[in-house]
Amino acid sequence: MPNAEQPLAPGGTIGILGGGQLGRMLALAAARIGLKSHIYAPDGDCPAAQVTDTMTCAAYEDAAALRRFAATVDVVTYEFENVPTAAATVLADTVPVYPDAHALAVAQDRLTEKTFMRDLGIATAPFAEVGSLDDLHRAIASIGCPCILKTRRFGYDGKGQVRIDTPAQTAEAWAGVASAPSIVEGVVAFDSEISVIVARGLDGTVLAYDPARNAHDNHILSTSTVPSGYPDALENEARALADQIVTALGYVGVMGVELFVCGGGGQLMVNEIAPRVHNSGHWTLEACVTSQFEQHMRAVAGWPLGTVARHSNARMTNLIGADVNRWHSLAATPGAAVHLYGKGTPRPGRKMGHVTQLAPRKET
Ligand code: AMP
Repeated sequence: MPNAEQPLAPGGTIGILGGGQLGRMLALAAARIGLKSHIYAPDGDCPAAQVTDTMTCAAYEDAAALRRFAATVDVVTYEFENVPTAAATVLADTVPVYPDAHALAVAQDRLTEKTFMRDLGIATAPFAEVGSLDDLHRAIASIGCPCILKTRRFGYDGKGQVRIDTPAQTAEAWAGVASAPSIVEGVVAFDSEISVIVARGLDGTVLAYDPARNAHDNHILSTSTVPSGYPDALENEARALADQIVTALGYVGVMGVELFVCGGGGQLMVNEIAPRVHNSGHWTLEACVTSQFEQHMRAVAGWPLGTVARHSNARMTNLIGADVNRWHSLAATPGAAVHLYGKGTPRPGRKMGHVTQLAPRKET
């Protein structure tokens, strides 16, 4: 049972729910610092299975398998935010789970998440709860068009979202989310999107990496670039917001905080938080002494956090679908760090790997 006074010693085991590329990179980071990983995922043929010490292949609903898993690990974490709350509860009976159930509950539900931000005085897009077609009519009347209808749960990479440009599209939009409990958000006329990867240790220490500027293609992250190009004051404000969020949650681990930069670079709004390592932080693998993956392993193991200083400029580009077929020329590109996730068929929209290009850091 790790804590800040009694960190998990080398040789200890971190259980990770989820076997995708994030689980894979977490397992590799654990190995780097002498910790073992045990991946729990429904699919035995997953990217993390190829690199972990131990694998449990079982459903997240399988309470008996979860209990057996819990008995073999010292602490549990996860690589995706849609971990069923029931699974987290079963595990938390016998083993610490970080980030905890409260962080999971806030991040899993867009209404809870936005309300949490509002209660902290943090700016977000205007929003309203929608539980019925009538609610949706009312929400559109108060927020105005254009707006976006988003399901409260299980949305990612633009899934579970319908844009509404005129009130005439109301019924169609409601059908588009299959009448699921949702929220409506006003469309924010943002200048750009940035994200902060922030970590909070078991001793309450908070450290945030430099904000990255993100570009998306078809709702999927395409590139993350550091430095963001924004002035120090804005970057510091973004870091301070991330600090406020993890501190208010009493969070343990790494979190990705996505923000909109609005008003000609003068204002920040939080779009969403991810209670896990984040795609827009992959550049930390090469450009920082401690990557976001090692940082997360350190945090949940009760270790001191590592330095987040960035020694190079970096641009991370996702390899999506057929992009991965360029692996050979990327491998031949000077200075390019190629990461391939060991996935089989490159389907459209599937994240197959990423490449990070470093450049010397220029002081401004
Ligand atoms: P999300 O799943 O909420 O992160 O949304 C995916 C992407 O849709 C974001 O990265 C934005 O590019 C865009 N988006 C989401 N919400 C809004 C909003 N309220 N206003 C403008 N664009 C948005």
